[in-house]
Amino acid sequence: MFEQKHEMLRKLAKEFAEKELEPIAGDAEKNGCYPPELWQKAAQYGFGGITIPKEYGGAGGDYKSLAIVVEEFCKKDAAASSLLMSNSLSGAPYLYYGTEEQKQKYLKPMVLGEKIGSFALTEPGAGSDSAATQTTCLWDEEQGCYILNGRKCFITMGPICDHAVVFAKSDLTATGTRGISAFIVEASWDGFSRGKTEEKMGMHASVTSDLIFNNVKVPKENLLGEEGKGFKIAMGILDAGRVTVAAQGLGIAAGCLDLAIAYSKERVQFGKPICKLQDVAFKLADMATEVQATRLLVYDAADRLDRHESVTMKAAMAKYKAGEVCNSVAYKALQIHGGYGYMQDYAIERMTRAARLVSIYEGTSEIQKLVISGNLLK
Ligand SMILES: Cc1cc2nc3c(=O)[nH]c(=O)nc-3n(C[C@H](O)[C@H](O)[C@H](O)COP(=O)(O)OP(=O)(O)OC[C@H]3O[C@@H](n4cnc5c(N)ncnc54)[C@H](O)[C@@H]3O)c2cc1C
Repeated sequence: MFEQKHEMLRKLAKEFAEKELEPIAGDAEKNGCYPPELWQKAAQYGFGGITIPKEYGGAGGDYKSLAIVVEEFCKKDAAASSLLMSNSLSGAPYLYYGTEEQKQKYLKPMVLGEKIGSFALTEPGAGSDSAATQTTCLWDEEQGCYILNGRKCFITMGPICDHAVVFAKSDLTATGTRGISAFIVEASWDGFSRGKTEEKMGMHASVTSDLIFNNVKVPKENLLGEEGKGFKIAMGILDAGRVTVAAQGLGIAAGCLDLAIAYSKERVQFGKPICKLQDVAFKLADMATEVQATRLLVYDAADRLDRHESVTMKAAMAKYKAGEVCNSVAYKALQIHGGYGYMQDYAIERMTRAARLVSIYEGTSEIQKLVISGNLLK
């Protein structure tokens, strides 16, 4: 499945994660952010545009390449994978549905690490049921623009984004998913504001906040795709998004396994390293087997995406499995660390808190099971 270019990319991503991320991940978690220079550094390595075509500053690579980089980053710190968002949630809507002008104006600067984008779908009353959106963006004939009103919540990069792709009702007479459109909204515009930076359980360096819109004027050229087709845009990038989050879960699980193996070889109790205790060794065997099962699901789904196959069910399986496995592997890895694992000085504590998110965002595990069973029973 992998070519030489993939192996080279893995080596590069591993090197970046070990040299640039691992030494500062603990501090970034405490400070609630990575230094801004890291965005530029990641962009210089080409990580901002792995799957983005060359004309927009990217490398034009495939989804296997993206999954490889996400996995390697997350082995050291899952929050740092927000640096890669221009490849997925914040970049894909532009890439697949944007006009040439929109791609040049918004996508390229993101890929080059000059601007930060975000993807604003979720609302207080519209989480799993994202069609229940109440934000409105209605055409105003007199002013010759759309007027955006509403509130989005839990938006990754919300506190620092330069622009957002916002999903809103543009036709109040249409029901359900119809009547929702996607708009590109700049943070500097009048009426745009942000909620407080959320104090999350984990992934502190991947910042999150509400985005609030109070009579924001959105020009016609900032409509993304066709009017009324916003939900299709959100769903259209979901399969690739889920494979990317699954790769996050894989990376967290693999990173936790690495930490547990290393610690179990060092820690001596009852006169020998604890890895010589069969219960510990068997835990490691179970963890490694689950990580490998997840890895096969993730890369199979990525490979199918690259071959333009329909992967909705496979992507949901990969996301579901990865979300659950990273939590169970993190739990066991922390157990192997004993009391030290509960201390913030040890990376396993941060990794365990990060794992908890993977089974929740971009569709909870329950929503993945709805997708899988729906496909089985259709
Ligand atoms: C840190 C973080 C970052 C995020 N980043 C973004 C972002 O950048 N952009 C964005 O748009 N969103 C983002 N989200 C939102 C995220 O995608 C939602 O939180 C998620 O989809 C779940 O929605 P909810 O929180 O409203 O939970 P709810 O939908 O209220 O779900 C609550 C519970 O009910 C269950 N449930 C709901 N419906 C069903 C059903 N039909 N069948 C079975 N069980 C069901 C769920 O599985 C869950 O267990 C982020 C969330 C977090 C926590």
